[in-house]
Amino acid sequence: MSDKTQRLDIVTPQKKIFSEDVRFFVAPGSEGELGLLPDHAAIITALKIGLLRIEQEGKKFNIAVSGGFLEVRNSKATVLATAAERAEDIDVDRAEAAKQRAEQRLAAKAPDLDVLRAELALKRALNRLKAVGR
Ligand code: ATP
Repeated sequence: MSDKTQRLDIVTPQKKIFSEDVRFFVAPGSEGELGLLPDHAAIITALKIGLLRIEQEGKKFNIAVSGGFLEVRNSKATVLATAAERAEDIDVDRAEAAKQRAEQRLAAKAPDLDVLRAELALKRALNRLKAVGR
């Protein structure tokens, strides 16, 4: 690993979806966006639904994360994500359907509606659509 990069691992309960050296990344911290360069001080923070914006030598790309935790230690960053998808793995039709379902639930306001659950589902869907530029 060169001294201008840091290892970033992104792990979900199902699998490791990313494990590469990156120059810089921005994480959706629960208290706001966090920009992480190599040799950052050790931290542990919760993540909210949002995009991990990653810069590698010559390329920039996004990974959608649905919350979790970020730990940085010894110039190694680990994201433990509830769910995470690379843009190319996102099923756009599925995300559109999830968005519509959540919007309809929130609009219909059924007496037994779990508002927070519907709002989180909507945020995940919108985040996935944002990751693919929709
Ligand atoms: P849905 O209602 O479509 O299941 P969801 O937001 O409830 O959406 P999650 O519970 O966050 O889904 O994710 C369950 C699994 O499905 C995770 O592995 C996640 O990465 C994957 N996943 C969810 N939506 C998509 C999508 N649009 N494209 C690709 N993978 C997806």
